[in-house]
Amino acid sequence: MTEDSSDLFGALFAARVVPVLVPMPAPKAYSYLVPEGMAVEPGSIVQVPLGPRQVMGVVWDDEGQEAVDPKKLKAITLAFDCPPLKPEMRRFLDWVSSYTVSPPGLVARMALRAPAALDPEPMVEALRLTDMRPERMTDARSRAIAAADNGFAWTRSGLSHAAGVSSSVIDGLTAQGVFETVFMPPPPVVAEPDPDFVPPRLEGPQKSAAEELLQKVGVGGFSVSLIDGITGSGKTEVYFEAIAATLKAGKQVLILLPEIALTASFLERFQDRFGSKPAEWHSDLAPRTREKVWRQVTEGGVRVVAGARSALFLPFENLGLIIVDEEHDPAYKQEDRVFYNARDMAVVRARIGDFPVVLVSATPSVESRVNGDLGRYSAIHLPTRYGDAALPHLGVVDMRRHPPERGGFLSPVLLNQIGKAVGRGEQALLFLNRRGYAPLTLCRVCGHRFQCPDCSSWLVEHRFRGQIQCHHCGYAQKTPEACPECGTFDHLVACGPGVERIAEEVDRHFPDARTIVLSSDLMGVKRLRLELEAIQRGEADIVVGTQLVAKGHNFPMMTFVGIVDADIGLSNGDPRAAERTFQLLSQVTGRAGRTGLRSLGLLQTYQPQHPVMQAIVSGDSHAFYEREISEREKALLPPFGRLASLIVSAETRADAEGHARGLRQAAPRVDGISILGPAEAPLALIRGRHRFRLLVHGRRNSDMQSFVKTMIAAGPKVRGSISVQLDIDPQSFL
Ligand code: ADP
Ligand code: ZN
Repeated sequence: MTEDSSDLFGALFAARVVPVLVPMPAPKAYSYLVPEGMAVEPGSIVQVPLGPRQVMGVVWDDEGQEAVDPKKLKAITLAFDCPPLKPEMRRFLDWVSSYTVSPPGLVARMALRAPAALDPEPMVEALRLTDMRPERMTDARSRAIAAADNGFAWTRSGLSHAAGVSSSVIDGLTAQGVFETVFMPPPPVVAEPDPDFVPPRLEGPQKSAAEELLQKVGVGGFSVSLIDGITGSGKTEVYFEAIAATLKAGKQVLILLPEIALTASFLERFQDRFGSKPAEWHSDLAPRTREKVWRQVTEGGVRVVAGARSALFLPFENLGLIIVDEEHDPAYKQEDRVFYNARDMAVVRARIGDFPVVLVSATPSVESRVNGDLGRYSAIHLPTRYGDAALPHLGVVDMRRHPPERGGFLSPVLLNQIGKAVGRGEQALLFLNRRGYAPLTLCRVCGHRFQCPDCSSWLVEHRFRGQIQCHHCGYAQKTPEACPECGTFDHLVACGPGVERIAEEVDRHFPDARTIVLSSDLMGVKRLRLELEAIQRGEADIVVGTQLVAKGHNFPMMTFVGIVDADIGLSNGDPRAAERTFQLLSQVTGRAGRTGLRSLGLLQTYQPQHPVMQAIVSGDSHAFYEREISEREKALLPPFGRLASLIVSAETRADAEGHARGLRQAAPRVDGISILGPAEAPLALIRGRHRFRLLVHGRRNSDMQSFVKTMIAAGPKVRGSISVQLDIDPQSFL
């Protein structure tokens, strides 16, 4: 043995080497040395050098790392004082990484999205009453002392507030030793919920549904329940019972909601039932709050989180139940970096953690519905509305027979019903899933169409803002007065309606009514919450809104709902078009009649015989699902077959197309798997990048991940501006 190699062996035995996942698109963990005296275990959150930077990472499980000469390895810089990611969380992250074919480090990063939370929260400085008393007593001083005379420690501002004295009074007493400074643990972000705060009174179908659910949730262990109940049937009260049972068992609960920023009313309802609000988790949280929530979730202090899809990656201390409300909602799909569907991954997380998951919807996804029909999920039905609330009467307006007046979009039938509702002092809702004033602007003289310079999409006029905008990249310019092509002034015309234009039409017909436009681009989350509350209080007569009005709101006085263009989503080449339209329109019409008042919903359509329209107005959702399921089965579409999509984009069209063709040629031959494309994507250009799509179609049991990985590995090398995005179980086909 030479001296050299004995050195190497010596170093190997002396130094511990561990795999660490770093936030990089690398296929596996990197090896790092553990410095002497540092204690780390799998799951420990650490800081490591990566090139010239220091990055956050997680010590991972040993998967037989290749031995690397320890001399070439760098050492972990520090280990955070933070609970390690639990084995089930690590298995979950590994699972998501392999299912979505995403680099494990990028998936792990989703669990660490609050860097400053890795250190323990600092203790809070507080004051406590001592036995000393001031030489001179004043009225204010005695009030401060009386307020603090209960054995508790107080923050300076808390005490001055409680005693009704200025903080200089407090400071004076502190200087004289009447108060001593102590340190308290930081306050919880939310108070602990009480499962027995206000138990509900459940009767009839709600009672049996809750009992059925508790049978599953009560036993513990993995199970999937699907609560399938019409809008207003009281699904929330039913799953609150499962939450109460889980809290009593000492476990944490995660409630996923599709549009958390808009669900103020949900938080309040939770508070009415459990005495305190759940902790929120979504992208609009202030960074400080975010860090506190993350930390207290990992330490187990926060018992219930209500969050958007990213909450699924919070490292709970002791998670025992996940609720996925509005489980069919497309917002659960993330289409950025790691492409995943939070509803599906919630089921995976529950299976790995061996606890129950509850999916909830009035219009379940076809996938969940099939799983319910086949008994893979236990289906719990709520067929009637709670209390004396009745479903709205629904009908179609055949636009060929009842056309709107010239330049308008609302048929006389719709206008008549709006007038009636407003006349009775009730509210009307008009729904159109198009932001802005008009989806297309053109010059009447030369026909010039305003198009985004970086995307293949028309610019949408936003008249309130005086701009034309691209809805794909955010490009905006001032609405021009003259045509840039022919120079003619005042000859630009708006084509087609957006919500702003509908509001203008409503104003023309009902100048005395109070009309509100609700659209995500018009206001921030705070404004939106206020507007929604105002509508609930009856401070608007007519609401014109995009899909954000469809989700979960309770407007007691809303007795008429008009769908301006029910055909919009039906013809876009998406295999889920019918399902989506059915879900969205059912949700919107479900906004009507949530109290005892008689209510009506009307759908304006040019295809009144379309099965989607028929299913909605007849209330026969069963027939709709049967038909939709049998069509999917025939075409081997999900859940009877599998899809994966690849989008190749590049700065030039030729690069994108060439690479996409190369991928197709490199595809292995596998029985049951076929490829469609490459074809130019419907959105052929976004942000200056040209896009081509490949769609891989397989059978239910096909190994799509291996197929795609083989294809990418054997395909042309990714170079220059080319990028390939892989989407397993795609929802979008644009
Ligand atoms: P869903 O979620 O099925 O659309 P909700 O849970 O929102 O239905 O219930 C509809 C309405 O009925 C809500 O206003 C809710 O407060 C009320 N409600 C439902 N169940 C009960 C109950 N057991 N006791 C009192 N009110 C209830
Ligand atoms: Zn654009």
